[in-house]
Amino acid sequence: MKKSGKKLSLTVKISISLLLGILAGIALQKHSDFAVQYIKPLGTIYLNLIKMIVVPVVLLSITQGIVSLQDIRKVGSIGLRTVAYYVVTTALAVTIGLLFANILNVGAGYVLPSGELSYQASEAPSFIDTIVNIFPSNAFTPLVEATMLQVIVLALFLGFGIILAGEKGTTAVKVVDSFAEVAFRIMDMIIQLSAIGVFALICPVVAQNGPAVLLPLLKVILVAYTGYCVHMLITYSLSVKFVAEMSPVTFFKEMSRPMLFAFSSASSVGTLPFNLETTEKLGVRKEISSFVLPLGATINMDGTAIYQGVCAIFIAQIFGIDLTLTQQITIILTATLASIGTAGVPGSGMIMLAMVLQSVGLPLEGIALVAGIDRILDMGRTVVNITGDASCAICVDAWEKKRENKQSK
Ligand code: ASP
Repeated sequence: MKKSGKKLSLTVKISISLLLGILAGIALQKHSDFAVQYIKPLGTIYLNLIKMIVVPVVLLSITQGIVSLQDIRKVGSIGLRTVAYYVVTTALAVTIGLLFANILNVGAGYVLPSGELSYQASEAPSFIDTIVNIFPSNAFTPLVEATMLQVIVLALFLGFGIILAGEKGTTAVKVVDSFAEVAFRIMDMIIQLSAIGVFALICPVVAQNGPAVLLPLLKVILVAYTGYCVHMLITYSLSVKFVAEMSPVTFFKEMSRPMLFAFSSASSVGTLPFNLETTEKLGVRKEISSFVLPLGATINMDGTAIYQGVCAIFIAQIFGIDLTLTQQITIILTATLASIGTAGVPGSGMIMLAMVLQSVGLPLEGIALVAGIDRILDMGRTVVNITGDASCAICVDAWEKKRENKQSK
């Protein structure tokens, strides 16, 4: 792992390039074709590289995490607590998003543009199908198609298999360890390209839409960011304070580096090395963090859930649709599931928004409206996503320590 000074300077570099990207976008407004044709491809290459490394990193780091726990029952107890924490906090997050969007009337004053809106979304599968689809019928297709929930199932079985193989599994342990290290190194290299990637992603968005177009959507940004901040300050502060007896100030102070990196890269998986390092500094044992964090980077997306809640209400309000309480509860359920299915790479939360809108019959065209500001919303939601993962690692570690203390008495 790199020295922290180097990482800080990279985060500073990324922040500067984000700013430069916005300025260049403003300057290139009249030549947006140039930005789209020549600058955007660099951003696409960067995104492709992140997507390329996501599967090996998640597969290998979760397998490694399980193997390091050495005991299937221990994996079960940690896994249950982790998943329970993730699901409860995510449901809370959507609720906060819905609440703020309703109270602050997120869609008020927005006039629908008369131009055509269109967004192509694929049909969302039913709830039962979603569950069935988590279990792959082939060991390689999930890796090839990057279906992340199936990759997690594969990692779980691989990890359990290695533990059960005992002596004979030691070569597999070494292979996983070694390849996990290699995957992290590759990710380090890709992260080094973040400054260029971030510049190339934001510049064409601003050049094409112009800052003025974003203005009417400012309220969506403000409401979403209010939700992000409230959820982090209340939910995570309380959980680290009461479960792990850790001062929230210490927590957020240490977390500032991964948070800043998540903000500029908009990728939970890309932030994983920073988050692993920071939680270890905060006292979480490696065997816990190496299981909880990669899992969280793939399935725990509180920020995405808040964003989906806010966007659903925004779209309902501007299309003049009144959502009943039952529909809002349906949103809580589907947004929790949708955020689990969201991959930890930039922009994937917006794709899953379609599933939430569909569940209550809201017009999918609404996504086209928020697409222009997606990057700005994505940066904030990724910060919440990774902070949630870290708070979970801290709590699970504290719970495990308590359990171990009880057992040793
Ligand atoms: N970019 C987010 C993440 O990586 C996912 C999303 O698009 O909501 O955590």
